[in-house]
Amino acid sequence: MSKTQPNILLVYTGGTIGMIMDPKTSALKAFDFKNLLQRIPELQLLDCTIETLSFEDPIDSSNMNPKYWVQIAEIIEDNYDDFDGFVVLHGSDTMSYSASALSFMFENLAKPIIFTGSQLPIGDLRTDAKENLITSIQMASLQKGGKPVIKEVGLYFEYKLYRGNRTTKINAEHFEAFESFNYPHLAESGVHLKVEYDDLFKPNLRKKLVVHKQFKTEILLIKLFPGISESVLKPFFIMEHIKGIVLETYGAGNTTTEAWFIDLLKQTIKRSIPIINVTQCSGGGVLMGQYETSTQLKSIGVISGKDITTEAALAKLMFMLGEQVSPRAFKTIFETSLRGEMT
Ligand code: ASP
Repeated sequence: MSKTQPNILLVYTGGTIGMIMDPKTSALKAFDFKNLLQRIPELQLLDCTIETLSFEDPIDSSNMNPKYWVQIAEIIEDNYDDFDGFVVLHGSDTMSYSASALSFMFENLAKPIIFTGSQLPIGDLRTDAKENLITSIQMASLQKGGKPVIKEVGLYFEYKLYRGNRTTKINAEHFEAFESFNYPHLAESGVHLKVEYDDLFKPNLRKKLVVHKQFKTEILLIKLFPGISESVLKPFFIMEHIKGIVLETYGAGNTTTEAWFIDLLKQTIKRSIPIINVTQCSGGGVLMGQYETSTQLKSIGVISGKDITTEAALAKLMFMLGEQVSPRAFKTIFETSLRGEMT
């Protein structure tokens, strides 16, 4: 193994990128990861060394959950000192959730963890898998003065590298499947790789890597809609084992001002169950108090998700509950950007 070349670990978790069509059923299913490298001989031309590790049973990312997040994190943690960067091949459906979760798990991350996948399987003639994979590896290999350029969890798809916890899957068909509405892309692949250095996350390099692995999943995501009713909503809020709620509200964080609704939130917050306000809009964020329809939310202690994505809000809530952050500190910490997930 050459010492001058960056050493990249490729972790295959599943997803379309490594799938083939079952000729009998025409359904896509995961295939042996070793074949993936055989299918892309171009990988040997890259200016880095690549090693691969695969989930024993690769999954469609619709089956992703915190146990798998821990599995991905432990693969990276166990190999952290031996590699300069990590590329995680993952189904696109829940990639933004996993990238968000991993960003919270890796405190003081000093190396790149780049998530990527594809809309078409690697064997397809018109596949987007090759470009996504090759450039993700290049992004993970970028170095300056012998140190990785990217020191955060990124997501690379269709010529752009994004901060993972800022992304959302926006299209089920287009190759341009992801968007980061509230934060600029970190790098772009054209004739050259153009890195936006000012926008990269700057971790405290004097601190040691800490990998957090506890998540609490007893949470709910509730999307408001005109006509939402007390009889349907109340049972969810008063459930005994509920530990936190993400509320997708209108516009800049607005909700109905009906008394039953505000009272339900108030009683829930009194039980020390955090309620996070995130917007249903793709871009922009929550600003409680801007309209009358959100001033009460502010006064009863609803937590502002600011411009966080729903995916990152859910991951952060599960992570902070797992870390057993005290109810007193919860609001302040949630409203603080931990990994560049909010502005
Ligand atoms: N259903 C697939 C998955 O998320 C889609 C993809 O890989 O893009 O695993």
